Amino acid sequence: MLSSAPTDTPDAPVIIIGAGMAGYSLARELRKLSPDLAITLISQDAADSYAKPTLSNAFAQNKAADSIANASAEQMAETLKLTVMNFYHVSQIDTANKTLTVHPVLASDKQQVLPYSRLVLATGANPRMLPNVSVDNARIFAVNHLDEYKKFQQKIQQCQATSDAPTRVAIIGAGLIGCEFANDLVSQTSQHAMAISVFDNADLPLSSQLPPQAGEALLTALTTAGVNFQLGVTIDSIDSSNPDTLTVTVKDRNGQLQAHEFDVILVAIGLVANTALAEQAGLAVAHLNAEQIAQVTHLPRTAQQGILVNQFLQTSVPDIYAIGDSANVMGSFMPYVMPLMNQARALAKTLSDQANDATAAPTAVSYPAMPVAIKTPSLPLVVLPVAAQYADSDINWQITPTEDGMVLAAFAHDNTDKLLGFVLAGKEAGKQRMTLSKQVDAWL
Ligand SMILES: Cc1cc2nc3c(=O)[nH]c(=O)nc-3n(C[C@H](O)[C@H](O)[C@H](O)COP(=O)(O)OP(=O)(O)OC[C@H]3O[C@@H](n4cnc5c(N)ncnc54)[C@H](O)[C@@H]3O)c2cc1C
Repeated sequence: MLSSAPTDTPDAPVIIIGAGMAGYSLARELRKLSPDLAITLISQDAADSYAKPTLSNAFAQNKAADSIANASAEQMAETLKLTVMNFYHVSQIDTANKTLTVHPVLASDKQQVLPYSRLVLATGANPRMLPNVSVDNARIFAVNHLDEYKKFQQKIQQCQATSDAPTRVAIIGAGLIGCEFANDLVSQTSQHAMAISVFDNADLPLSSQLPPQAGEALLTALTTAGVNFQLGVTIDSIDSSNPDTLTVTVKDRNGQLQAHEFDVILVAIGLVANTALAEQAGLAVAHLNAEQIAQVTHLPRTAQQGILVNQFLQTSVPDIYAIGDSANVMGSFMPYVMPLMNQARALAKTLSDQANDATAAPTAVSYPAMPVAIKTPSLPLVVLPVAAQYADSDINWQITPTEDGMVLAAFAHDNTDKLLGFVLAGKEAGKQRMTLSKQVDAWL
């Protein structure tokens, strides 16, 4: 345990579970407002602080995985005056007694019970798995953490060091993470090229985020950069029995099977919010396709999952909050950096105000319309999704070509002046990000 907490540590501090961008953003914001508040941050990993988006553009920048963390747990504890319990797993929350059960990751018999005054779940998300495929972090990977990325990078470097042939990488999933990694790996400026194939059952990359015209443009740009797309296929099997080669067998829409051989596989088919701890404690969570989700339609339409929280980031149990990739804010699951920053600011204000006066009113999270930049340098994209209150049939897409791409602007059918969202494809279009974002109504 690394402790730089103020000396007046009360018996029951604010406890944050999770040392990702959400957990540390909250700790940072809270410390700005409350210089002496006792804060404990618990994480089952090393609790190094790092910007996760870097993971999908590190190859092209020749960035070694070991250099990605910007501060160790010790430095974070020192700078923010936190008690950081790294390599501790939280196994249980007792909501009636306001305590947590924790144990060192490598010693589950050494349990401790810790009281909390207010508890924040920043437990993130886990990569979604393919049925019957186990991620072994040796040849088959799914990267949503620096530790996973280190092993992935090491494996690729090992392949490159032991063979002159291009390293064959299969990426399963042509969503944001899959496309970013495809572009990053294919751009690596090493003497050993990589042969990158991307598989998806959709007909275009990023099909859930982009209108078809932008998807086509991205497909062309990445294909020109050297990525081999196999679209409209489902994964039939992955055979890892041969120590030298992984065989991915796909089925096309006609039921035809085709086998492809690879050295490395990256599974990138989405995220599953980490709600296990919350569910065990009886907190309300959203389940995929659940029907009980409130329709708060001014937020973008998203998959329904995560720990349910209201506009104050409060869960269904008093004094427990959730933020980041583990949270579902008012019916919207947005696993990106800008939402978690806004959540951290609002929650820090609530926790700080209520530390001074328990009856202080909580602060609601505010969301401006927040675009997401997709790091595909072959065709950089900025996407501002349309709020869920507009059905697809309400939207009129206007497409304006630019020098190196296009602006796709979503207008309301009944009001051609009302910008609802956009996709900016290419560097030239990207320059309009700020101007256009300001024209879209705030989400919350
Ligand atoms: C490759 C990649 C690229 C990305 N690029 C972008 C981008 O360009 N722009 C953008 O906006 N977003 C991007 N994202 C998404 C963004 O990085 C995430 O939204 C953000 O990092 C999530 O942070 P988090 O703290 O909520 O979760 P996490 O980083 O998952 O942290 C969760 C923490 O909880 C801890 N934990 C979980 N359960 C327990 C337990 N029971 N006990 C103790 N500790 C526990 C874990 O150890 C971890 O420290 C990207 C994501 C990836 C994977």
